[in-house]
Amino acid sequence: MAGKIIINIERCKGCGLCIMACPKNSIIISKKSNKNGFFPAQADNTDCTGCGACAIICPEAIIEVLRNQSGKIETIAEPDKKPKPSLIKEKA
Ligand code: SF4
Ligand code: SF4
Repeated sequence: MAGKIIINIERCKGCGLCIMACPKNSIIISKKSNKNGFFPAQADNTDCTGCGACAIICPEAIIEVLRNQSGKIETIAEPDKKPKPSLIKEKA
């Protein structure tokens, strides 16, 4: 493994920016929708180099990137762990 990405598919909006940014065509759009009704990006890590371009461009910051550096796995990008904003409940 040169590189690997992990996408939080339930938070993906299916915008496709990561697909356009990937120089290795290592990301595709899933045929199955997520719980919000979006067709999320799906990693195909076969040719991933761990460059991090997909994580940088993702507006949702939901892509984790790992890269194999001489046998040592390094985290290149971490997803935003902030919880999704939710509507404020109105008081009765
Ligand atoms: S880290 Fe780079 S090569 Fe791997 S999926 Fe993302 S953009 Fe493509
Ligand atoms: S850039 Fe982010 S939100 Fe857009 S398709 Fe890729 S993973 Fe999903």
